[in-house]
Amino acid sequence: MISSANGLKCCEVAMGILKEGGDTLDAVIAGVNLNEEDPGDNSVGYGGLPNERGEVELDASVMHGPTRRAGSVAGLKNIRYPSRVAKVVMEQTDHIMLAGQGALDFAKAWGFPEENLLTEKSRMAWMAWMQSRRDGNGSNAWAPGIDAPGYEPQALLRRQFPRATEEAIAWALDVVKNPPTGTINCLSLNAKGEMSGVTTTSGLAWKIPGRIGDSPIIGAGLYVDQDVGAAGSTGRGEENIRVAGAHTIVENLRRGMSPKEAGLDCLKRIARNFNGDERKLNLFDINFYVMRKDGAYAGVALWSGRARRGGYWAAPQFAVNDGGASRLEACTWLLERKRQGN
Ligand code: ASP
Repeated sequence: MISSANGLKCCEVAMGILKEGGDTLDAVIAGVNLNEEDPGDNSVGYGGLPNERGEVELDASVMHGPTRRAGSVAGLKNIRYPSRVAKVVMEQTDHIMLAGQGALDFAKAWGFPEENLLTEKSRMAWMAWMQSRRDGNGSNAWAPGIDAPGYEPQALLRRQFPRATEEAIAWALDVVKNPPTGTINCLSLNAKGEMSGVTTTSGLAWKIPGRIGDSPIIGAGLYVDQDVGAAGSTGRGEENIRVAGAHTIVENLRRGMSPKEAGLDCLKRIARNFNGDERKLNLFDINFYVMRKDGAYAGVALWSGRARRGGYWAAPQFAVNDGGASRLEACTWLLERKRQGN
């Protein structure tokens, strides 16, 4: 079992299901459901950061190796477990992808409860973002007007969200400046050699309503070929879509590359799309997770790390579970980012 770094618990739960003889797709879906329902994971499902209108819009895809089937949903609102809806699309329809209102109507028809996925914490971050925007004259109708006594952004949030901790307020102001992406991808392989995968996300914070990332696109955010291997991605979906990343990686595996080589080759294609211009490439991050049918695996990242709030350096990692406790392993990276801070 491998996943993005936010999937330590996910991999453990999924491995437990495999050990009991469960299906590889059921296992990864049960794993990522933990992230989908976790209000602390602001990149997936409930508690995910919203689009520019303050609505949480979710994308998810699933692929089942043994039956070679796929399902996905895009721009789905108000449903906590989009990965489960993607599986119902796969199993119960003659389609592969449903989007927007159609996906929501479909989910409701299958009994998924509709609920507001915006937590107070995410609403606070969205409001801070709304108040941070400025027109050409430096004003914004959502922010205090000329008659205001001159509050600082922190003070404004404290007044409106009195229960928020200082840590949460600092986080909200940080995500305003650096719109985060985030997702969970999880890939599984059982003892019989069967593979499956899932990718689920709330996508890019503050996106234009209707923006769809790579996660629900079969061949970009996820690809599984039972004869070869599987790959998935987190990070800036726009770049992944332009190289059809997960499919490219699986084709690289088919041609004999190792998981690491296959992933790095895909990252090089992304760098090539910017003629290697590191100033532009520095504006985003993207990772791929790769598992070959024989169990060889790798995590690869465009950059060696990123400075996080508080000045600490986060090196890219991914989660692995091969039957014991889940652990984080280092991703192999393509480009070295200049380190500020330590
Ligand atoms: N890949 C996701 C998207 O572009 C976001 C992410 O993984 O950070 O929607």
